[in-house]
Parts: sequence; C-alpha cells; structure tokens
Amino acid sequence: MANGQVVPVAFFGHGSPMNAIEENEFTKSWKAYAESLPKITGILCISAHWYTQRTRVTAMTVPRTIHDFGGFPDELYRVSYDAPGDPNLAHRVASLLADKNVVQDQNWGLDHGTWSLLKQMFPNADLPVVQLSIDASLEPRTHFEIGKALTPLRESGVFILGSGNIVHNLRATFGSPGGLNSQPLTWNINFSNTVKDLLEANNITNLINYSSLGSDSQLSIPTPEHYLPLLYVLAAKDNSDSLSLPTQGYSGAGISMLSVAYG
Ligand code: ZN
Repeated sequence: MANGQVVPVAFFGHGSPMNAIEENEFTKSWKAYAESLPKITGILCISAHWYTQRTRVTAMTVPRTIHDFGGFPDELYRVSYDAPGDPNLAHRVASLLADKNVVQDQNWGLDHGTWSLLKQMFPNADLPVVQLSIDASLEPRTHFEIGKALTPLRESGVFILGSGNIVHNLRATFGSPGGLNSQPLTWNINFSNTVKDLLEANNITNLINYSSLGSDSQLSIPTPEHYLPLLYVLAAKDNSDSLSLPTQGYSGAGISMLSVAYG
C-alpha cells in the first residue's frame, strides 16, 4: 500500500452466479484477498450487470438483492446479501462526478455482479455497499476518466471493486460441450495472457483501447460491459501501488477468471 490510509482497489472476475454459494479455487482466492485488506469503511462496486443510460449510483439505505439471472437452482434465488446502503457515499460519488450528471438511484439494489463476490469476500454483510452503473453510451476513455475521479474515495477507506470478466463470451462457453466446465479456447488463453502482459508493463493505453488488440480481443469482449469495470480500477490506482493477480484461471471455453488488484 502507498501508505496506512489508502485502501487497495481491485477488479474481480465473478464468472457463474453459482460462485456466490460454491467453494472452489476462485472463491477461495476471493476470500483470501478480502482477508488481506486493511480496515475499510465501505464498498463501491462497479458491476457489469448494471449497464445503463447515464451513470447511476445506488442511493437507498436498504438495497435489495437482485436475482438477475435465469435457470439456476432454487438455492441461488434464496440468497440475500443484506448489507446496508450508504446515501452519503452515493452523494459523494455523484459530487465527484458532477460533470456526468449522475442519477442517485432509489430503484436498483445489489445485482449478482456485486453480491456473488461480496457473499464470499465479506460474508457478514456489515459494510455499506453502493453500486455504480456503467453508462453504455460512453467511450472506454470516459469510463477510465470516471474511475480517475473516484480515486479520492480510497483515502476515505472505500474499497473500489470492479466486477466483470476480462474475457466473457457466453456463446462460446455454452456452445462448447461441458459449458462452464469446458476447456478454455485458445483465444481466451491468449487474450488473458495479453492482458496480464499489458498489466505487468503498465500499458494502460492499450488496455483502454482494447478493441485495437486484434481478433482475440473481439472474441473475448463481444460486448464491453464485463470488461469495462477493469478500466475504473486501472484509473483509480496510482503509481505507488503494486500489482497483484489474486485469481487466475478459466471458467469454461470463453470466460477468464483473472482478477487484478493494486495496493
Ligand atoms: Zn456477469
């Protein structure tokens, strides 16, 4: 960490919603990472599953648990994550992003992009959680600028968490025999390695301009919402932070579970 007060910032690949209730190599790494964190005062999660027009921030005192998926066992629909909201934090986020005219939202809640990770990382649900949406109309560079503007939250003890997947091609995954248990395809492995190399080289420009990284990137990021949370995290780091990759590996043919942390 840069000093005793600044909280790390991280992007985690959430993969299947079942990771919320299963124990596996991925969820073990999420827990271990969370246990390594210093004291935090709240969580701001940028979720792939809140892809909106305009940027929105959850501003209610009691965010509901949203089961935004279909075809999973009943057990998963019974999961709730009863963390409090934090209207003051939501207001501060909106103030930091004043030029984006952020909507302080009273209707959304915590979707599975957020709670599938937090259920494992912070099972007591005793820290306030605020979600930030991803404005589908913005360019990658603008998402990065939003992340940059959020950086001061780290000094207030807020853990900024991006939730998505660096490679997220569901068609390739469920089109492969074995689905989530299929072997990763070559382009998934190659693009995951490309991202790792760019992270290690601190080549943020190429990570922002991911669509220029060739056909592997096009197959890995058929739609941008699972990749974009990474840009918020890259923006919120500073040069004194060190990089770690708490999770590596794949969840089927077209999903990479790579996670990225700075602190
Ligand atoms: Zn997802």
